[in-house]
Amino acid sequence: MPDVNIVESLEDARNRLRTALTNAGRDPASAHLLAVSKTQPAASVRQAFEAGQREFGENYVQEALDKQAALADLDAIVWHFIGPLQSNKTRAVAEHFQWVHTLDRERIARRLAAQRPPALGPLDVCLQVNVSGEASKSGVAPADLPALADVVATLPQLRLRGLMTLPAPSDELTTQRRPFAELRELLASLRQRHPQAPLDTLSMGMSGDLEAAVLEGATWVRLGTAIFGQRAPRA
Ligand SMILES: *Cc1c(COP(=O)(O)O)cnc(C)c1O
Repeated sequence: MPDVNIVESLEDARNRLRTALTNAGRDPASAHLLAVSKTQPAASVRQAFEAGQREFGENYVQEALDKQAALADLDAIVWHFIGPLQSNKTRAVAEHFQWVHTLDRERIARRLAAQRPPALGPLDVCLQVNVSGEASKSGVAPADLPALADVVATLPQLRLRGLMTLPAPSDELTTQRRPFAELRELLASLRQRHPQAPLDTLSMGMSGDLEAAVLEGATWVRLGTAIFGQRAPRA
């Protein structure tokens, strides 16, 4: 079992988010905690659920499916896919998640749309953007974002909710804020381009840079280690 008290660290994380929102002059209900449970056992997810957490983020499809099967009794749980998405995994994601935060290619968008079971309703998606200083190579370039958004907006099985980014870690608040500000501006432009889309989401900020993300308008902060403790190296 993990060496952290999940109930306490979840409470600390909620307080931290509330404080960050208040300090940013924002409504305390205007951003939500996504508990990133990658590499954590199903028992830890269950503990967080019992402590009131409903939204969980997973990065690896097979690991997530195993956990979902072990937690099938938790009707109100909401699963978000936040890892790199390969085309051979789109069907499982379309069938077993409510959100995808890491959509960055037209081909993946079309597959997710075609494979989304109608009974589940549209899949909520964020487009991952590779803003300056992005840690990974994934994400659409800002210049290519409008074209990708145009395609996604034509797919009724996908609901275009907003943007996500994953910047390189930094200890400096000013440096941390820059890519988040860029993402906020990109979302503002996208809203003008797609006034009909429910573009209400900025998925940005993790355990190390939550405050910077909240200052720039984050609506989902994705916290892993701050809730579950350090991750064991992936097998
Ligand atoms: C692992 C991960 C997180 C959580 O990171 P922590 O530093 O543990 O809070 C957030 N977002 C993505 C995309 C991740 O892969």
